[in-house]
Amino acid sequence: MKMSQLFTKTKKSAPADAETANAKFLQQAGFVYQEMAGVYSWLPLGLRVLRKVETIIRQEMNAIGGQELFLTALQSKENWLTTQRWDDVDVLFKLQSQTGKEYALGPTAEEVITPLVQSFTHSYKDLPLAVYQIQTKFRDELRAKSGVLRGREFLMKDMYSFHTDRQNFLEFYEKAKEAYLRIYERCGVSAKVTESSGGSFSKNPSHEFQIETAAGEDDLILCRNCTFAQNTEIATKQSGEPCPDCGKELAASKGIEVGNIFDLSSRFTDAFGFTVTGEEGEKKTIYMGCYGIGVSRLVGSIVEASHDERGMIWPKSIAPAHVHITTLNAKDKESQDRIMQASEEVQEKLISNGIEVLWDERSNSIGEKLADADLIGIPLRIIVSEKTLKEGSVEWKARTETESHLVKFEDVLEQVQSFVAE
Ligand code: ATP
Ligand code: MG
Repeated sequence: MKMSQLFTKTKKSAPADAETANAKFLQQAGFVYQEMAGVYSWLPLGLRVLRKVETIIRQEMNAIGGQELFLTALQSKENWLTTQRWDDVDVLFKLQSQTGKEYALGPTAEEVITPLVQSFTHSYKDLPLAVYQIQTKFRDELRAKSGVLRGREFLMKDMYSFHTDRQNFLEFYEKAKEAYLRIYERCGVSAKVTESSGGSFSKNPSHEFQIETAAGEDDLILCRNCTFAQNTEIATKQSGEPCPDCGKELAASKGIEVGNIFDLSSRFTDAFGFTVTGEEGEKKTIYMGCYGIGVSRLVGSIVEASHDERGMIWPKSIAPAHVHITTLNAKDKESQDRIMQASEEVQEKLISNGIEVLWDERSNSIGEKLADADLIGIPLRIIVSEKTLKEGSVEWKARTETESHLVKFEDVLEQVQSFVAE
């Protein structure tokens, strides 16, 4: 990917109304474009991050047996009346067709998935089942703010599981919880788990996954050593007390909810009259679980958790590219040709070995190019200049480090490979 060909450009400064790091940097670096309040388009660099996060989520959902599908975002009013939520969900976007018929724009998908699964599922032998999708959701949020953290249109992964047996549901729920923690870890962030609704596990389990950040909306008591956290709305612990899980001191902080899993029991299956035939021909109640991840919010939360005053610092697993090559301008045409050629060779070698490269070969000033590299936040920056060429080397600097050092041309590939694999 050549920077000169990227249609998006970085901006000198962030939009004046951007208060949070994600709103600032994602827009300034051209990762997202604000269409209106709480509504963002994802641009090439941002989309690469979003897609990588999706891939991680997909792998972990498939690993616990989730089957992917893609539901309609346009939902029938009748189904929302059936579950008695048409008038109860204040964030529900309602629209009217020219025929006068009304629809909902999906804020979640129980009203679609429950009757859909019902149409295929008749016997206890058809269950358990877990299905999921990664799809745009719509919510008429009164305060759409904090960049992509709270949108009116946003990307969510939502999984729904169906069971005839409560114990089987609880076991799957535990598996989903573990999968969630793996997802966040693989995305390079540490998520805390809060137990919602004061929940005694066996009754009505419900957990939220929180990333600690000053931009978060939730007040938490959390442990920085393990995943323990409590929402202060329900907290039984106080800051300064020892963590019940690991014994380290608890702290008060703020978090943003990046995932939520909960027990729907038979709330929706009862509403649609969805039962199956049991072993003896009897009707069996179906229990449902619901498992959400705010995919676009997660990307924003990662920026909140990982940035400095100059820009974003992407974890390697989800960065828009592995390496940012910056070719500096030379004094004369001949040297310029030589460093361009050397850069091209480095790039070719990396790309042909599966390394993703963003190559800044523009004629902009050094200052601009270095500022852009920091803003965009690719984990590794490699500079090729007249000076490094004289040494037969490139200048190597990780985004997280302040010091750079030289690496010989012939060693670049191997070192990048081990950097990426670390
Ligand atoms: P919140 O409490 O933040 O309003 P919620 O509890 O209503 O969220 P869920 O219905 O559990 O959210 O949705 C699943 C996930 O989708 C949430 O954990 C969150 O990460 C994400 N999410 C919810 N609302 C939004 C939004 N308006 N913008 C972006 N992501 C959202
Ligand atoms: Mg929630």
